[in-house]
Amino acid sequence: MWESIKRTGGWKGEIWNQSKSGNIYPEYMRITAVQDKNNLVTHYVSTSTDIGITKSALAEVEQLAFYDSLTKLSNRRLLWERLKLILTTSYHSNQKAALLFIDIDHFKALNDTLGHEIGDLLLQQVAQRLSSCVREDDTVARLGGDEFVVLLTNLGTRIREATMLADVIGHEILRVLSQPYQLGIHNYQGSSSIGATVFNYASGDKKNNILRQADIAMYVAKDSGRNALRFFDPQMQINIDARVVLEADLRLALAENQFELYYQAQSTHEGRIVGAEALIRWQHPRRGLIFPDAFIPLAEDVGLIIPIGRWVLQTACTQLKIWADNAHTQHLQLAVNVSVQQFHQADFVTQVQQILSNTAINPARLKLELTESLVIDSVSDTVVKMHTLKEMGVRFSMDDFGTGFSSLNYLTRLPLDQLKIDKSFVQNIGVKPSDMMIIQTIINLVHNLNMEVIAEGVETEEQRAFLEDNNCLLYQGYLFSKPVPIAQFEALVQKIEPTPEMNG
Ligand code: C2E
Ligand code: CA
Ligand code: CA
Repeated sequence: MWESIKRTGGWKGEIWNQSKSGNIYPEYMRITAVQDKNNLVTHYVSTSTDIGITKSALAEVEQLAFYDSLTKLSNRRLLWERLKLILTTSYHSNQKAALLFIDIDHFKALNDTLGHEIGDLLLQQVAQRLSSCVREDDTVARLGGDEFVVLLTNLGTRIREATMLADVIGHEILRVLSQPYQLGIHNYQGSSSIGATVFNYASGDKKNNILRQADIAMYVAKDSGRNALRFFDPQMQINIDARVVLEADLRLALAENQFELYYQAQSTHEGRIVGAEALIRWQHPRRGLIFPDAFIPLAEDVGLIIPIGRWVLQTACTQLKIWADNAHTQHLQLAVNVSVQQFHQADFVTQVQQILSNTAINPARLKLELTESLVIDSVSDTVVKMHTLKEMGVRFSMDDFGTGFSSLNYLTRLPLDQLKIDKSFVQNIGVKPSDMMIIQTIINLVHNLNMEVIAEGVETEEQRAFLEDNNCLLYQGYLFSKPVPIAQFEALVQKIEPTPEMNG
């Protein structure tokens, strides 16, 4: 102030003043030096304006505009400003920065079960924990909902070290956020998923892109089973783009009649074919034959599994009808895979019933393959639906048995006809004694429960022999036949028609 007065003869600015009552308040002050005719300063004239109200109003506006009211963290707008600043300053410094996109796992479930107030408490505690993990210069922001962003700056000029630092901090955040929470009267154990990306001006990234990259990586972290950290890499972007294209194609596939069922034989120890499993294939107009592992998970994610699943069921039952009219094939059973979502549709039972009555087939020829995850998803719904379908005469097989929870408790509650030993065990016959023991245990269990047992993925004579020795007398696998189009399957059935020699 004095320097300015000496140099320019005046000063203006904001100061903190104190009133007689001791209140500190901001004022706007203007000081002018008054000189006599010899240019000597004789007085100073000062005028001041109380700006207290404007100041606090401004602070409030700023608080509202740039901070999240629930957690007091920066909001999206302030994050945007910080990001802009980092991009500009890193142009000269070449310092790397990292953006961590953090999403609370199962937050919706918590909100739905314990209510929004409890959800808010969690968000506030998460905010505090996040703030405790970072340095002064870093930014913690809440984008909304259960989405948080941590912006780490000045991570050094080398991408490798910057990534390592971000990785350390990211894992610290994972650890801290998975400590128990006290939410009112509730104890809560949560976790989070983090997507991260390292950037600076030189990487040429726009603000939008940076956030999007971290977001993509976060989804990959979620997909990997949650409570995980993933860094963005360009392959993720490529995968997403490919997925978008695939999804668009998949939406057309039904209408364009591009699906086909393949049939894989199920044979007895005597070599008789007793039926088949229907396995879907996609005849893609440009990419050729696509296997289900490449599109069923996507169809499940986007809900297309519902119409696709219905098509499979319809097509399989139509095939059973054709078989029923031919003496060579009328004994064949057909197993159909049913997805979780498909089974848990409110009208699934009605759908099956309609298809059965439209095709007028013997329901006992149809076998629905369910998985353990389908049961676990909703045990009571599963039990009710299975019993209703069972009464109609439909059969059930538990697919991939041994890979899930394999709880004895539900096994006895479900009207199952068959357990299917998963191919991962079968393929370890002669390789991994513990898996061979699991197979023996499953077979014993099945016999005690009065069910049937089939092994899938049987590829070698050694595997088949072990299974037969242990009293598993039904097989499916490449040793007998690959999944093939209907004409080939029917040719196979003709060829292996029981002959007198085979029947002994
Ligand atoms: P899954 O139900 O476990 O089907 C068995 C898979 O093992 C099939 O793969 C089959 O081709 C393969 N396989 C059969 N024998 C052997 C063998 O000896 N060795 C080996 N290594 N593999 C064998 P696919 O056809 O690619 O189907 C993969 C999965 O896609 C199926 O697994 C099933 O979960 C799903 N899927 C197939 N069709 C449908 C469908 O119509 N609806 C639904 N929801 N899912 C389906
Ligand atoms: Ca299956
Ligand atoms: Ca299986």
